[in-house]
Amino acid sequence: MGYGKVTERGLGVIRKIVGSERMSTGESILDLHGKDESFHPRRRPEVVVWPIRAEEISQILKMANEERIPVTPWGAGTSLEGNPIPVEGGIVLDLQRMNRILELMEKDLQVRVEAGVVYKELNQYLSRFGLFFPPDPGTAATLGGMVGNNASGVRTIKYGATKDFVLNMVVVLASGEIVRVGTHAVKSSSGYDLCRLFVGSEGTLGVVTEVTLRLVGLPEGFMAAVVQFGTIRQATDTVSHIMRSGLSPAALELLDAQTVRVVNAYKKLSLEERPTLFIEFQSASSAGLREELEVVKEVCQENGCLKFDSGVGREERNRLWEARYDVHEAIKVSHPGLSPLVIDTAVPISKYPDMVEWGQRVLEKRGLNGYIFGHAGSGNLHMEILGVPEVKTEWQKVQEAGEEIVGFSLECNGTSTGEHGIGIGKRKFMKREHGGSLLIMKQIKDLLDPNGILNPGKIFE
Ligand SMILES: Cc1cc2nc3c(=O)[nH]c(=O)nc-3n(C[C@H](O)[C@H](O)[C@H](O)COP(=O)(O)OP(=O)(O)OC[C@H]3O[C@@H](n4cnc5c(N)ncnc54)[C@H](O)[C@@H]3O)c2cc1C
Repeated sequence: MGYGKVTERGLGVIRKIVGSERMSTGESILDLHGKDESFHPRRRPEVVVWPIRAEEISQILKMANEERIPVTPWGAGTSLEGNPIPVEGGIVLDLQRMNRILELMEKDLQVRVEAGVVYKELNQYLSRFGLFFPPDPGTAATLGGMVGNNASGVRTIKYGATKDFVLNMVVVLASGEIVRVGTHAVKSSSGYDLCRLFVGSEGTLGVVTEVTLRLVGLPEGFMAAVVQFGTIRQATDTVSHIMRSGLSPAALELLDAQTVRVVNAYKKLSLEERPTLFIEFQSASSAGLREELEVVKEVCQENGCLKFDSGVGREERNRLWEARYDVHEAIKVSHPGLSPLVIDTAVPISKYPDMVEWGQRVLEKRGLNGYIFGHAGSGNLHMEILGVPEVKTEWQKVQEAGEEIVGFSLECNGTSTGEHGIGIGKRKFMKREHGGSLLIMKQIKDLLDPNGILNPGKIFE
C-alpha cells in the first residue's frame, strides 16, 4: 500500500496544531529540507513543520499515522548517508526550535535538553560550570541528530559515543504516544535498554524531543603531538602499538599524505606531506602529561617516525591540530564538480593497518581519486572517493570500490558504518553485517511503527 499525501485538509490540521508561522510549503524551505551533506539526490517533503512541544508532535503523528503520511525528523541536516532525506515526501519535523537547555543537574553531572540544542552551544554553556559532553561530530549537529545517528568522533576513543551518554529520553511514537525511556541512574540492569534502542535508530522508531545526558568534568591539562611517517603502514602499526601500550589518548587520528596535501592547500599550512598521526592526551592537571608524552614518543620512534612535533597546553594543542580540521571542506573546495562517496568502516584495532592498506589498494587498482583519513584509535576509517554521481559508468566504479572496502571490513568482523549511520547509502550491507538478527530489527520496526510512516526508506532495503 502506498503512502498518503499531505492534502489541503491535512495542512489545515497542522495549521490548527502549530499555527501558520511554524509550517511552510515554500519552495526554498522544501528544498533545504530535501538534502543532507551526502551525494544522495534531493527529495522534497510536502510540508516542513517546526514544533516546539512534544504534544504538537504527538498530534501531528496521530494524524499522519491515520492517513499513512511519511514523517521524517530533521536536526541540522548534516548527515552523510542521506539519513534525513524524506525520500517518500510527506512531513518533515524540523526540531531546531526545540532548543532549550531545560535543567542542569550540576552535582549529578547531568543535563536535560531539548532535541534541537546544538551540541557545540551546549558545550559552550557547560564550560562555565567546568563540565562537557564529549561526543564531537565536528559539525553544527543537534542532539536529536546525534542521538539519531549515534554520532561520535575524535574523542570516542577515550569517552565513548553518544549512546554512552544518554541516560533517558522523551520519545513520541508513531501512534502519537509520548513515552519516557531510561532513568537518571548512570548504571542500571533494569529490563531491556529501550534508551539505547532509540539511539542510532535514525528517526525510524520515534521522534526524540528531550534528552538527559551524562557529563564529564572539563579537563585542565592538554598535550598534543603531530607525528609523521615514511609509509602509511608505519603510521597505522603505530596506532595499535599506542593502544596496547597502556596509554589512554583522548584522540588519535590519521591523515594520509594526499589528505595532508589538500588541507595544506586549503588552509595555507606547511605540514610535510606524509602519512601523519594527530595525537591528544587530556588530564585533570598538566602533571603526568609529560611522562605520557615521553612514552608515546618512544613508541612512535620504535615504529620509525620521521618527525615528532609536540606541545603541552591548550594553545599548543590547537596549533598542532590545525591541519586535522575541515578535511571534508578542503576536499570539496579542491574538487569542484565532484562528489565524494564517504567510507566509514570500523574494525577491531589489530585489523586497522590491513583495513587502511586494503582501502589504498582498492583506489590504486581501480584508478580512482580518493583520500584516506579517520579516527584511527577507534579503528574507524574514513575515505572520500571522488566521482560524478550523474555519470553512471564512472559512479558505478566508485560504488564498486566502496563495496569492496566495506566488504573487507565485514570480513574483519567490523561494521559498514562506525558513526554516520545507515541512511540510504549503507542499507545494502545490512544483511551481510547482521545476518539473521536483521529480522529482529525489522520486527521491532513493525511493532513500534506498523504503518511504516517514520523516516521510510532508511536502514532497511
Ligand atoms: C564534514 C562532516 C563531518 C562529519 N563528521 C562526523 C563525525 O566525526 N562523527 C559523526 O558521528 N558524524 C559526523 N558527521 C555526520 C553528522 O554531522 C552527524 O551524524 C550528526 O550527528 C547529524 O546531526 P544533525 O543534527 O545534522 O542530524 P540530521 O542529519 O538532521 O539527522 C540525522 C538522523 O537523525 C534523525 N533525527 C534528527 N533529529 C531527530 C529527533 N529529534 N528524533 C529522532 N530522530 C532524529 C534524522 O531523521 C536522521 O535520520 C559529519 C558530517 C559532515 C558534513
